[in-house]
Amino acid sequence: MENYDVIIIGAGPAGLRCAEKLARSDKTVLLLEKNKVVGPKVCGGGLPNIDLERFNIPDDLLEKKYRSMMIHFPFLCDEVKADNEFLYTIDREKFGQWQLSKIDTNKVKIRTNTRVTEINKDHIIIGANEKIGFKHLIGADGANSIVRKYLGLKTEKFCIAIQYIIPSDEYKKLEFFIDSKLFRSWYAWIFPRKDFVSIGCGCNTNMVTAKKLRENFNLWLEKSNIDVSKGEFQAYTINYDYQGYKFGNIFLAGESAGLVSGLTGEGIHSALISGEEVAKSVLDDDYDSKEIRKIIKVVNKHAMILNFFDSLGIFRNVAFGFISIIFKSQRMQEIINKKLFR
Ligand SMILES: Cc1cc2nc3c(=O)[nH]c(=O)nc-3n(C[C@H](O)[C@H](O)[C@H](O)COP(=O)(O)OP(=O)(O)OC[C@H]3O[C@@H](n4cnc5c(N)ncnc54)[C@H](O)[C@@H]3O)c2cc1C
Repeated sequence: MENYDVIIIGAGPAGLRCAEKLARSDKTVLLLEKNKVVGPKVCGGGLPNIDLERFNIPDDLLEKKYRSMMIHFPFLCDEVKADNEFLYTIDREKFGQWQLSKIDTNKVKIRTNTRVTEINKDHIIIGANEKIGFKHLIGADGANSIVRKYLGLKTEKFCIAIQYIIPSDEYKKLEFFIDSKLFRSWYAWIFPRKDFVSIGCGCNTNMVTAKKLRENFNLWLEKSNIDVSKGEFQAYTINYDYQGYKFGNIFLAGESAGLVSGLTGEGIHSALISGEEVAKSVLDDDYDSKEIRKIIKVVNKHAMILNFFDSLGIFRNVAFGFISIIFKSQRMQEIINKKLFR
């Protein structure tokens, strides 16, 4: 049986960042990815501006830059403007390939088209019963993580996000549509990208089934006169149920750990940071990650806010109406600019 000090399952932002960092150590590392190509993922590809400097993301990877967004509340619509560009979009395949190019492949062995099908105490199984041994295992395998399942962690806080990818430059603005009847505490969006627009919506699966969400989305598309006939339909889950990231010699990073905002669905930033921090934890048993603690605080806060709105039931729309009035105030715009658009 082949053996490695560290096996990383999943070459998304978390797994790739983790591999890049571990390549600088003396550990033997294996990175496994089930897909043939590293990078593509059902995702909006939105990154906050703070990530550009933090991860040295080159300019040529940035597609669109946003300074404002329209928010459509039940009874009024508001444009929130920032002093600076606060959101950028990236193409997930190009981003994945860029991350991959930063990994020293003399130090990390990478196998794509390789799905891990079983996990045991000290080895994993791939393909037709090929066993590979590990000292440390890192689950960076996303929302439906096999490592998380092996650890016996139940996932109860789940969102489903659906979108149409439509080749069109008709839409210019980033827009969010709040409609409690259709999307409960979530929303629909129009997210113009470089050569296409993503038009989608999401919802907590405890509130609406996937089937019902699609029906509601169709109603909204019809009401909004949006033609998706030329679009490609995509759907994926979002796991925001954080329950820990360190379990002896097994670690979870990114979405497998539930490190995603349940409110906005943003998870790339947390995936990159947790991937890096998990690498440090593997190299030093006593490492206490302040960065992950910061992310956990935000993830838990967002889950609490979502839970609060979910619990409002028929009063949710009233609450959104109230928020829309507050949003209009000058003071609120200042706070948004300072707090949200860092
Ligand atoms: C519709 C939608 C829109 C989104 N928009 C945004 C956005 O605009 N901004 C943002 O920040 N976040 C967004 N997200 C969330 C974001 O996509 C994820 O949080 C992020 O990709 C998590 O990164 P990760 O590395 O943890 O996992 P992933 O990116 O999911 O990577 C996991 C990798 O593991 C591989 N894998 C899984 N199982 C196995 C296995 N058994 N064996 C081998 N390999 C395996 C997968 O193929 C995948 O490559 C969105 C999500 C959805 C669904």
